[in-house]
Amino acid sequence: MGRFTFRAWRRVAAWTQAVLILGLPFVRVGGESALRFDVPTLKLYFFGSVVWISEAYFFLLVLLLFAIGVMLFTVLYGRIWCGWMCPQTVLSDYSRSIERIAAWFTGHRFLRTAFSQGLLAVFSTLVAFDLVAFFVSPYDLLADVRSRSIGPWTFWSWIFFSSLIYLNLVFVRQRFCASICPYARFQSAFFDQDTLTIAFDASRAGECMGCEACVRTCPAEIDIRQGLQVECINCAACIDACSHQRDRYGKGSLVYYAKGKGGHDGQAGTRPRVVWLSLLLSVIAVLFLYQIYSRMPVDFWVIRDERQSYHQIGVRGNILNAYSLLIENRSLTPGIYQLSISGIKDAELVISQNPVRIPPNSSARLPVYVFAKRQNLSERMTRIRFTLTDTVSSEIRIDQEAPFIYPERSDKGVDI
Ligand code: SF4
Ligand code: SF4
Repeated sequence: MGRFTFRAWRRVAAWTQAVLILGLPFVRVGGESALRFDVPTLKLYFFGSVVWISEAYFFLLVLLLFAIGVMLFTVLYGRIWCGWMCPQTVLSDYSRSIERIAAWFTGHRFLRTAFSQGLLAVFSTLVAFDLVAFFVSPYDLLADVRSRSIGPWTFWSWIFFSSLIYLNLVFVRQRFCASICPYARFQSAFFDQDTLTIAFDASRAGECMGCEACVRTCPAEIDIRQGLQVECINCAACIDACSHQRDRYGKGSLVYYAKGKGGHDGQAGTRPRVVWLSLLLSVIAVLFLYQIYSRMPVDFWVIRDERQSYHQIGVRGNILNAYSLLIENRSLTPGIYQLSISGIKDAELVISQNPVRIPPNSSARLPVYVFAKRQNLSERMTRIRFTLTDTVSSEIRIDQEAPFIYPERSDKGVDI
């Protein structure tokens, strides 16, 4: 039975990643995508929770998690991310497989090229569709495609990303890693004597047959026998190639996964930067999960309508102020909210519906009025409290204050 090569393991990793990444916008949790940032509404769907853009600190936590996670991963595993998980590498590998498939079907050079370019174009279009599905509902997108009513922004974004991916797969591939990728530039700063790297065993250099299989197979087009280079993406293709060459003679590969920049064995013991980064990552991850699963599923704001700053209406001695209430139901279930006011004796809230019903994952802006008697107002400006109570989960109550103002007696000759 053949050996399970690094290439086979990388294929398993690539397919797992493809299924996960392609599937996340399509899998529904609580009726919405498992993971998606919806651009039209500026909301992040995260495994059954909805994060609104007004909760910007969540996005800050996500950025911190990502940045610290990348640092820790780099300290521990060097550029394993690049060789095994980075979409650029995975897509480049798929494009090579597509070219090999095209070569099976037709032997003529021109037809083979046309066929493989056609397959690459279709592949790029599908990948771009999935990319767009991370930003608009994939189900709406599919329906729009079927009914040919896709909006111009979505359509041109899809065309743009399809073209970009296609050109990348045809002309760039792993050259991106060596020349453009910013991660490749800074990652070597995180390497220490225990970071996982690829190394050529210089102590056995005399055993090298000079077959150059390791060089020919390298997607970064480098010669690992010259030592670790910034272009190396830790893909291990050279290990497989050397193993394949030397297996015939019953000898092991001269290239191997090593520790440290110099390719010598790592040192045992605790690594302070790993400890600190792990601690920091754990704290932020716990904070993020706590925040996301314990946050208020509703929020509301009160804005006094300054255009109708105050009125005297109807019965002599009554004052009216107008407000706008903004209520966000951030849950994936319908919300029913009771509104009340306090802070001014006998004040009356005038609202078109109370309780207010708001569909799941939606917001509503409601104009409301408050009547108060002049005799109950000791100051020209009184703070009035609006209270929202969730009738489904009565522990949820939110108070917001706003000013209630009456006019000076002399203003505009008003007699109150
Ligand atoms: S040197 Fe080896 S591990 Fe590094 S990129 Fe080339 S083939 Fe991959
Ligand atoms: S594949 Fe192995 S034996 Fe062949 S040139 Fe590379 S290191 Fe030497």
